[in-house]
Amino acid sequence: MKNLLVDKKSGENILVKIKDVIIGGPEKVIISGPCAVESLDVMTEIASALKEAGIDILRGGAFKPRTSPYDFQGLQEEGLKILREAADIAGLPVVTEVVDIRDLEEVLKYADMLQVGSRNMYNYSLLKEVGKLKVPVILKRGMSATLKEWLYAAEYIMNEGNFQVVLCERGIRTFENYTRNTLDLNSVAVIKQKYRIPVIVDPSHGTGIREIVPQMCLAAIAAGADGLIVESHVRPDNAISDAAQTIKIETLVELQKKVKLLQSLNL
Ligand code: PEP
Ligand code: MN
Repeated sequence: MKNLLVDKKSGENILVKIKDVIIGGPEKVIISGPCAVESLDVMTEIASALKEAGIDILRGGAFKPRTSPYDFQGLQEEGLKILREAADIAGLPVVTEVVDIRDLEEVLKYADMLQVGSRNMYNYSLLKEVGKLKVPVILKRGMSATLKEWLYAAEYIMNEGNFQVVLCERGIRTFENYTRNTLDLNSVAVIKQKYRIPVIVDPSHGTGIREIVPQMCLAAIAAGADGLIVESHVRPDNAISDAAQTIKIETLVELQKKVKLLQSLNL
């Protein structure tokens, strides 16, 4: 079976629009923010710093799909309200994850863009529900999904009428365990060459190591990614969730300059 809806032969490249931001066009889009929404004060501080840095979209998880049930599960509805308030104060659009089909309505009240996480890439009923909406969505690659399975997951959403889908490579599980995941940039090169759906890269979950996040961001852009999603925090060591892979906003500012430089090379 062919991936009919996403194949370049089936139409123009898809552009995904989130307020004034376009993913899949000439500009590389940077999405950033903490792994989890922690409090209004911290979220507002981060959002304002990111706006100042020129970041395009704010991220933050209110519903956290944690591997361990004993880890922080997110502030849930309270987190959504905080995220929206911080984003509005800063003047940024916001993306957040929907983990459960039963939370969809609530999440939609606050989010400009939805994220379907790695653990839910195979949740076809959630994908179909998201497909019935008109809201843009980031579809992360399942941690053990092949490229084909991931494309089919995107088509589960698109088949219902929602073509506002952005793929996100976030690394896959391999025998390598020095890094949290193995960031598969092959997928990015293939998608850009053969498919018409935008793809962004998440080197935070892709590596799990903050020291190598900037280099892998640049590698992703060199591979052709339409943008990046990066976990950042004003005080990364204090981040409640995923501190080890969270970078400082200052690091993001430096990185952004290099992304622009790389983009100007038109690789
Ligand atoms: C996230 O981006 O917050 C997240 C949980 O990522 P993933 O679904 O890729 O593990
Ligand atoms: Mn995280």
